[in-house]
Amino acid sequence: RPGQRWTMRIAALSGREQIIFLSDRSAIDAADRMRSDFVANASHELRTPLAAILGYVETLQDMNGETDGPTRHRFLSIIEREARRMQQLVIDLLSISRVEADRFRRPTTPIDLAAIVQTTIAQLRDSEHPRAKDVVAKLGDNPQPMLGDEAQLAQLAHNIISNAMKYGHAGTPVTVELAREGSRVRLSVTDEGDGIAPDHLPRLTERFYRVDEARSRSVGGTGLGLAIVKHISERHQGQLDIDSEVGKGTRVSVTFPLAAKG
Ligand code: ADP
Repeated sequence: RPGQRWTMRIAALSGREQIIFLSDRSAIDAADRMRSDFVANASHELRTPLAAILGYVETLQDMNGETDGPTRHRFLSIIEREARRMQQLVIDLLSISRVEADRFRRPTTPIDLAAIVQTTIAQLRDSEHPRAKDVVAKLGDNPQPMLGDEAQLAQLAHNIISNAMKYGHAGTPVTVELAREGSRVRLSVTDEGDGIAPDHLPRLTERFYRVDEARSRSVGGTGLGLAIVKHISERHQGQLDIDSEVGKGTRVSVTFPLAAKG
């Protein structure tokens, strides 16, 4: 293929036998490029709030106590908001690197997905999120054991449900459902929001990909939530589906295999 590069290594086995190792350099180059793009994107994302924080701190220092109370309060609120954005970004960056490091370790612990989702919803309600009261849970009362990493599945549920809360319209329901489908279980979260145009759908799980960057920022997004969901889903042999209709809303679902009866 055009642009494809190979590295060849020859090792002698004995006098007359040789082994030839061929490695696909272009795949290694692509992985290197992805890694350096990620570092560049992450640095850029961290630099923006950092510049705002330094700018407002310097302004406060230059004013040397001459600012009135409301102005000082406003500047401090902006500094706090930007610092929280950096904090969330660092949390998400650590999560994604941890989840990636675990990707070849199959989970072996039987867990109750309904209980995990229930706890995640309770935590979102406790956080006094303005949309917490819109969450409708239809989890059933039949525990369905699957093999999983409890903390990661809680994070997966949190990311999908909080997206529906962020991008769904205020006052409309966010429906969280668990349904058994043969030997699998499907977790789905449906919102009534602006929806997502079809050309964006294949890219949503890329790190830092956002349909509307300003909107994502204003609701406290980092652009890493669905990338983390994708990795956690893959580690659990799950299948991630995103269905959306512009002007109507979005349904994000992940289907996991249930634990085989032993
Ligand atoms: P973010 O932190 O920006 O929310 P995510 O990785 O969680 O990042 O999602 C990527 C993008 O996908 C979001 O910026 C948003 O544009 C879009 N998106 C995710 N979930 C929804 C949803 N339920 N409704 C509409 N758009 C969504």
